[in-house]
Amino acid sequence: MEEFDVIIAGGGISGSTAAKFAARGGLKTLLVERHKTPRDKPCSGIQFGYFEKILGEKIPKERLCNIELNKVSIVLPDGKSFSSPFKMFNFMRKPFDDWLNILAQEAGAEFLDDCVCQSVEEKENYVIVNLVKPKEKKKFQCKTKYFVDATGLRPKIRTQLRPEDFSKESIGYGRGRRAP
Ligand SMILES: Cc1cc2nc3c(=O)[nH]c(=O)nc-3n(C[C@H](O)[C@H](O)[C@H](O)COP(=O)(O)OP(=O)(O)OC[C@H]3O[C@@H](n4cnc5c(N)ncnc54)[C@H](O)[C@@H]3O)c2cc1C
Repeated sequence: MEEFDVIIAGGGISGSTAAKFAARGGLKTLLVERHKTPRDKPCSGIQFGYFEKILGEKIPKERLCNIELNKVSIVLPDGKSFSSPFKMFNFMRKPFDDWLNILAQEAGAEFLDDCVCQSVEEKENYVIVNLVKPKEKKKFQCKTKYFVDATGLRPKIRTQLRPEDFSKESIGYGRGRRAP
């Protein structure tokens, strides 16, 4: 069974960024993404300029949309509006997430796409991660000291481990309900 210092499930913005910093910090890192990449994702793709500071990288022009966002306008219900110069990034998730996956790999992380993290088994000093490659009908396990669930808004593993944090009443996009 292959062993890692950290396994990160989810090759989106959070998982790729975490993988980049974990690998750069010298940890043997595996980043697992359930879909074949690169892939499209529903998102407006608008991000604050501060993102470059968090990431410690300049976003290459070819990973951004051609139209630059340099101004924010707020329109109030009474029709009044305020505008201010405000640089924001705009990108499509396919080239953007792909670039983040590449950054993680360049930092030394191993990247597996088309691979689903199904569950984890917590042992005393380590974690067993159950992985499956559905297209190859292949199931396998990896051992890790640390596991990060970065599988998005409805995180599969965190929901298994801490169901109380993800009750049906909690907020989520598309549900149209507020958190109690
Ligand atoms: C319509 C829409 C518009 C949005 N617009 C904006 C915007 O303009 N600006 C903004 O900042 N945010 C926007 N968001 C929110 C943004 O998409 C999320 O905040 C962002 O994607 C969160 O990144 P993440 O890495 O946490 O999750 P995700 O990007 O969702 O990444 C999670 C990844 O985990 C993978 N995964 C899931 N389960 C498993 C598993 N079991 N094993 C392995 N991999 C798994 C998924 O395939 C996915 O690639 C928008 C969201 C929507 C729906």
